[in-house]
Amino acid sequence: MYDVVIIGAGPAGMTAAIYCTRRAMKTLIISKEIGGQVARTFLIENYPGLKKVDGVSLAFDMKAQVESLGGEFLMDTIEKIEKLPSGGFEVSSTDRHYLTKTVVVAAGLVKKKLGITNEEKYSGHGLSYCINCDGPLFKGKKVAVVGGGNSGAEAVEFLTKICPQVYWLEITDQIRAEAVLLDKIKKLDNVEIFAQAKIIALSGNDMLSGIVIDQNGKKLEKDVQGVFVEIGYQAQTDWLKNTLDLDEVGQIKINALGHTSCPGIFAAGDVTQSHYKQIVVAEGMGAIAALEAYRFCRG
Ligand SMILES: Cc1cc2nc3c(=O)[nH]c(=O)nc-3n(C[C@H](O)[C@H](O)[C@H](O)COP(=O)(O)OP(=O)(O)OC[C@H]3O[C@@H](n4cnc5c(N)ncnc54)[C@H](O)[C@@H]3O)c2cc1C
Repeated sequence: MYDVVIIGAGPAGMTAAIYCTRRAMKTLIISKEIGGQVARTFLIENYPGLKKVDGVSLAFDMKAQVESLGGEFLMDTIEKIEKLPSGGFEVSSTDRHYLTKTVVVAAGLVKKKLGITNEEKYSGHGLSYCINCDGPLFKGKKVAVVGGGNSGAEAVEFLTKICPQVYWLEITDQIRAEAVLLDKIKKLDNVEIFAQAKIIALSGNDMLSGIVIDQNGKKLEKDVQGVFVEIGYQAQTDWLKNTLDLDEVGQIKINALGHTSCPGIFAAGDVTQSHYKQIVVAEGMGAIAALEAYRFCRG
């Protein structure tokens, strides 16, 4: 039996694994892939101690660190966690079962996409799903923000400080961001708001340089070098809905110490209700969940 099974090998899961192995816990980390969202990031510029680092290198350095400490990795997709009558849990994929005293769920999330042609091509080449990650790279450029909720508004508010022109698009007839921020944005001269509007085409060569907007049937072309998509996310936690308390977008509810609604199961990183979906935040939460799993095992 393992002391801890960690589900997800992104920054939260890998950090949890480092802390667990250093506490001499028998640790298994199970993930669909190594690195999670980090492995899909070309350049990270907000990781303390490393001025610039590419995501794949960072992810594989973390993996090497976990392995050097004795952590085991398995590539698999977990579909079920069951509480054992004798104590502990059985963590299962379609055909494999792992027994453990505690579980740390660090399964991340998936950002909602526009669902249009060329989206993959321009992702990381002008198209971004993370204002805190990529916003500063667009200083002096014309940009668009898709999504009229609070995340979209925060992105617009920041970009208006560094960009000459920001186009803000909302698919419904109403911007849903909180009134105070919305009023502030409406007073700025470098923002143009489009309600009932969506991007229907992305264009450019290697880098994004233009978009076509459909506003209520009317087509508008705009030159932009950046598009930020802030239309929400979905945690991949359908398989956990009968085991843990989740919120309306599938995020796991936890307390400040990473405890879920089931004693012995902890959660960390983007899969939780953490407000800031960032690497260092996920790592901090991974450390907390790991130390709490250790405390749980010790009894
Ligand atoms: C394109 C992009 C750029 C970014 N740039 C930055 C940046 O510059 N700076 C920054 O701080 N943040 C950045 N972020 C955000 C950052 O990557 C995330 O906040 C961070 O990776 C979250 O870590 P996590 O471990 O919680 O989840 P994730 O990184 O999402 O990892 C979760 C892992 O769990 C696995 N998993 C999920 N479900 C299961 C299951 N059922 N069974 C087994 N495995 C499972 C997934 O496959 C994945 O490997 C960026 C994100 C993206 C998408």
